[in-house]
Amino acid sequence: MNQNPSIVASRLGQVKPSASIAAKAKADALRAAGREIIDFTVGEPDFPTPAHIVQAGVRALGEGHTRYVASAGTLALRKAIIDKLQRENDLDYALPEIVVGSGAKHIIFNAFTASLNPGDEVLIPAPYWVSYPEMAVINAGVPRIVNCAASNGFKLSAAALEDAITPRTRWLVLNSPNNPTGAVYTQEELRDIGEVLLKHPQVWIMTDEIYEHFIYDGGRHVCLLNTTPQLRARTLLINGVSKAYAMTGWRIGYGAGPAELIKAITLLITQSTTCATAAAQAAAVEAINGPQQCVRDAAALFQGRRDRMIEQLGAIDGIRCDVPPGAFYVFASVHGLIGRTTPGGAVLGSDQDVASYFIEQAGVVTIDGTSYGLSPYLRFSFATSTEEIDRGCAAIAAAVAQLRK
Ligand code: PLP
Repeated sequence: MNQNPSIVASRLGQVKPSASIAAKAKADALRAAGREIIDFTVGEPDFPTPAHIVQAGVRALGEGHTRYVASAGTLALRKAIIDKLQRENDLDYALPEIVVGSGAKHIIFNAFTASLNPGDEVLIPAPYWVSYPEMAVINAGVPRIVNCAASNGFKLSAAALEDAITPRTRWLVLNSPNNPTGAVYTQEELRDIGEVLLKHPQVWIMTDEIYEHFIYDGGRHVCLLNTTPQLRARTLLINGVSKAYAMTGWRIGYGAGPAELIKAITLLITQSTTCATAAAQAAAVEAINGPQQCVRDAAALFQGRRDRMIEQLGAIDGIRCDVPPGAFYVFASVHGLIGRTTPGGAVLGSDQDVASYFIEQAGVVTIDGTSYGLSPYLRFSFATSTEEIDRGCAAIAAAVAQLRK
């Protein structure tokens, strides 16, 4: 007889809901309840998918792309991905080394399902995207968090990596540009990390490059495989169209890696979702093969918004932030606010308290750094209009001014 009285599997007891999705839901609920809310939780561009891409999706529907397609992804999309990786990243892949999923998240999840045996360790540099540890746990893995100091730009050093690797390490997850810090790894940093990894053949590397196109001030995206191509036989590159082309709702992402792993991920797709949506794949082909000016425009827009947000947040006594070189988030220290007293008499004891105070007092929703593995910090998304940035920062400044030291 089943010993568990609950219908929910015991292993889910350890799994936390996504903090970013929960924070967004909170903002939506407060707004629905009639409160004026400024939402700094947004993890997606605030503008629509470019028209030429939407038209390609609509055209595909009209032309009858309304059926199941190959589980690894349509030939047209996999070829577009191969060309993109060659053109933009100087990386060579063949068809059996590419798999398309319902978002990059789907590929990451399936990669863990396909590769983790119970107790295998997944090294995750913190601050990290909230979903990596939970996806490892769901798939019987053990997340091993490696703290990365603000003084090192929130980046994993080769020495810290060397210390963290054990015989049970199955994966290292590298995310550049990083969510939530915007950190971007340089060629030299990746070369040093690559040197360490070459010594540990049991470790696979997942390079999540979903924010690749949002690097500012003339910076350049580099992949670990550009600096250390010898790691190709144990690297899974993750990317997708969600962020670069404002296509989060189309749910198309992909993985590029050794055929054996890609085949295993595809097997899971055949037995779960069957394939990613056919018309969305046609739209993704247009996104990747079509004009790229929309991506450059989006990056320029985000850079301006970043500067505006940094200037205003940085001027608030108690909040400290460095300029993020990539992605669309400011990860700001609120250490200076801890210990201050609210007008209601409560003492702010954590970044979660600060986030709650900003909701109550300023109507601004952010996400606490604790959820990303580093406190006391808050993540502020600047994927929102300049008006919202100005209003939100002014409301936070006013709320902070009401705190007693
Ligand atoms: N990787 C990182 C670091 C992200 O921040 C996100 C989304 O927020 C994803 C992957 C998932 O992207 P997708 O929409 O392709 O599933």
